[in-house]
Amino acid sequence: MIPSEADLQLLFARLNYRFFNGECPDCRIAYNARFSNAAGRITYTGHPLLIELSPKHFQKYPQALEETLLHEMIHAWCFAKYRDTGHGARFKRKMRECGLTSIYHDLGNVRPFNESSKRYILRCEQCAFEVLRRKKPGKPASCPRCDKRRFNPNFPLTIYEITGLEPVGTTVDGLRAAHRGER
Ligand SMILES: [Zn+2]
Ligand SMILES: [Zn+2]
Repeated sequence: MIPSEADLQLLFARLNYRFFNGECPDCRIAYNARFSNAAGRITYTGHPLLIELSPKHFQKYPQALEETLLHEMIHAWCFAKYRDTGHGARFKRKMRECGLTSIYHDLGNVRPFNESSKRYILRCEQCAFEVLRRKKPGKPASCPRCDKRRFNPNFPLTIYEITGLEPVGTTVDGLRAAHRGER
């Protein structure tokens, strides 16, 4: 028997207290029966963040559940603190602190974590609206919250590349920024 979603939420709170000093941001924990070769997944868009776990996987490997949840929580923590979604140095350091040894779990050679491939955050510096994107926007865009009705260059979205958090341009001058190297 795998824990109920309510029990997962309690487990989350316990792990948060024990390993993150309560600083892992709020996450909704849910099962997703459609996962086939993924044990867990985190989705960074929306509040709270969403962690989904495979019920099939944990019926088979119940002992892996806590580790998988912890793994996804480290992602949530890295994202909240550093806007980092990878398995780089920060992730690994925190992983060791939590006593996890491998970024992979009991799935043999299958990479169990089917993570968001989104690499860019578009952020409105005026109202803090944020959205994640796989690609840089190809055409001008502006904050949909500051001007709900139409494109408005007074409300540009800054484009952050998720690994370094260095702005690479804004959605208003995105095309210019893209050619920066050639000038
Ligand atoms: Zn991961
Ligand atoms: Zn805005």
